[in-house]
Amino acid sequence: MPELFLMPSTEIYLDANATTPVLPQACAAALKVMGDVFGNPSSSHASGLKARARMAEVRARARRVLGVSSGELIFVSGATEGIQTAVLSALKSLSGRNDVDCVLYGATEHSAVPQALRHWNAVLGLGLAVVEIPVAINGAHDLNWLRVHAGRAGLVCTMAANNETGVVSDLADIATALEQSPALWLVDGVQALGKLALDLTGLQIDYAAFSGHKLYAPKGIGLLYVREGAPLTPMMAGGGQEGALRSGTENLPAIAALGAVLEALENDSCFQDQTTMRVFNERLATALRSAFSGLVFNAPLATCLPTTLNFSVPGLGSKAIIDVFDAAGLRVSGGSACSAGSASPSHVLLAMGLPAWQTESAVRMSFGPATTVEFIDEACKRILKCGEALRRHGWMPASGERVASVDGITRFTEGGGCCYALVDANTRSCVVIDPFPGVLPQLKQWLGSRKLQVLAALNTQGGGEAALWASALRQAAGVRRRAPDSVDALGWPVGQSHISLGLHRLSRLEIPKQRHSDVVFLMREADNCLSFAFVGKLIAPGGFEATECGEAAFFEGAEALRCLRAAVQPDTLMLPRFDPKDRMACTFQGEAHDQPWLAGWPGALGDVASPVGACAHDRAFLSAAQNCAVEDFSGQPPALHHECDAVSLRRLLQRHPDLVIVDVREPIEQELSGLPDFGAQVRKQSVPMSGFVNALPGWLKPHDDSVLVFVCRSGNRSSKAAAALAKLGHRASHSLVGGLSLLSSHVAFD
Ligand code: PLP
Repeated sequence: MPELFLMPSTEIYLDANATTPVLPQACAAALKVMGDVFGNPSSSHASGLKARARMAEVRARARRVLGVSSGELIFVSGATEGIQTAVLSALKSLSGRNDVDCVLYGATEHSAVPQALRHWNAVLGLGLAVVEIPVAINGAHDLNWLRVHAGRAGLVCTMAANNETGVVSDLADIATALEQSPALWLVDGVQALGKLALDLTGLQIDYAAFSGHKLYAPKGIGLLYVREGAPLTPMMAGGGQEGALRSGTENLPAIAALGAVLEALENDSCFQDQTTMRVFNERLATALRSAFSGLVFNAPLATCLPTTLNFSVPGLGSKAIIDVFDAAGLRVSGGSACSAGSASPSHVLLAMGLPAWQTESAVRMSFGPATTVEFIDEACKRILKCGEALRRHGWMPASGERVASVDGITRFTEGGGCCYALVDANTRSCVVIDPFPGVLPQLKQWLGSRKLQVLAALNTQGGGEAALWASALRQAAGVRRRAPDSVDALGWPVGQSHISLGLHRLSRLEIPKQRHSDVVFLMREADNCLSFAFVGKLIAPGGFEATECGEAAFFEGAEALRCLRAAVQPDTLMLPRFDPKDRMACTFQGEAHDQPWLAGWPGALGDVASPVGACAHDRAFLSAAQNCAVEDFSGQPPALHHECDAVSLRRLLQRHPDLVIVDVREPIEQELSGLPDFGAQVRKQSVPMSGFVNALPGWLKPHDDSVLVFVCRSGNRSSKAAAALAKLGHRASHSLVGGLSLLSSHVAFD
């Protein structure tokens, strides 16, 4: 059996602000406690006493590390719980007070803080205003604003250091601004612990929350400091643990692990000092600057934690950078880990007022204080390698490097919108269809780096902004040797019946005037076979756009569809301008499964002779279309494809030794990390998602019965690819669930 070969072999984890690995001595401490000190700290027998003593030891150490000899130090499950308890305690004490009417929090706080404020304000029925403290473009709190508003505030929440940008708050200045304020003060110390000195008592901080898993302890353990005399209301009542301040049997293994981390911190045994961390920071910053042209840091490094670098690269989205880094074994994140699943830009960068492109494409790189010099060496090496690969693949400007060539259709997407570049590699000529602002920077870079001759930049829809974008692209890409008025409003060369790109021919199909599409572009091959139709917004896979509008406009849509249906075959691949579910393409034949009204409707066209008949027919069509479209847009995609894990993949391989593994990662990712060895007979095909539609005609040949297994990094793209192909009628389309990242080296496939 061949060893599964996965590149790269080692992981460079640079996402420490999300969470950290557990220090070996912390693991050992937890294991030891689970074996030897398993007693319940509340029990009065010897086992319990041992457990209680262990806990007391850790608490005493935490007091020393945090420099708090008085007040409470409570073990909690993490910072979110600590924040809840602090907020509940503070707000409860404000009940009935008429000298305060608001609570304030930094605009860049972790969402745990504003959410807790709103939650407990509502639960306690206080009706206080919950107000953001603005921050400047460098992320610093607006202290003048704070001074003005602090006089009526009952609670002020400011983090010690930001988790996304690393911006360090000036707690001493905040303390001064609060001198005349009646407010209690909560400091989220999560990102500061182990990286910054904190003076909790000197600054009269009332509450401070900490989290173990951000500093090499396991998840599920944290600390809440409460100043002596500050109000404290337990959030959990029960068995009276933690002096009745936090009931529930204590998580002793995690407490012991946290103790081991605090011990390392106290003894300086494996944590780097400030100077060394600053050197690491500078080395990473230098590597990033040389790898990425035009890179900007989203917060000034000098006023940030040395362990956090937040940056954006013009023309490169954060997802692109994260995917490329991931392929090189570098783990970074975009925005905050908690919101990484959502596409919305970071609230932190928005609050700082950074330009849209920076907030939308930000990447966070963060390391922990136990990082070694060897680790930073390797990280820098891989960052530079990613930069070289990005240039080689034309994602960034290259000087003199040969850029990988492309052929056929490349799809650019952003926010559900799609734009296409049709390229003939032999003549190095290109036509762009439906450019829009979200893809323009990437598209310009992509075209420029390949030195493609852009013959036309076309729109399927006339007028308005769409025309401006295409015109902007025409200028940028130098659609040249043509006077500006020698193209029409859609960018089509006046007087030309078709555009030739090598053996491809592009012609236009006039659509009767209606709301969405003015024109459809038809792509034919040398044998005059119609291979693709670029249909703009006329038909969206799995949903019928026209139903969004009123009835009158809909009838125009129906007329346009009729016209399109008459010009293409039932199985012609139609490429949409809008494809939020990544269905890639649709056919009239395939859509009929999803939207049964389409099955009867086009065929019946010829029978509808009279305008009255047409109208009655269309009314039935309209109501069916509305039902289908609404359902399809809101429901789960039908699961016609098959998801397989490593075990079922092995079974599938036994049944179909000649199956095809289709790698849908982009070529740059494929270059940076190879595929595992799936076995000698397995065929491999590289079909990046951006060029996915090119492979469709081959896979959809009537008698093609090949078994396809799509793979990608996380299983997300491959699942979409398999679903798209299944929807188009392929019978054996599979996806590797969880992606290549879940295949571990003990899996062998032969
Ligand atoms: N505060 C900050 C600054 C954080 O970074 C996080 C975690 O991302 C939290 C609070 C929440 O911490 P926990 O995961 O321990 O609940």
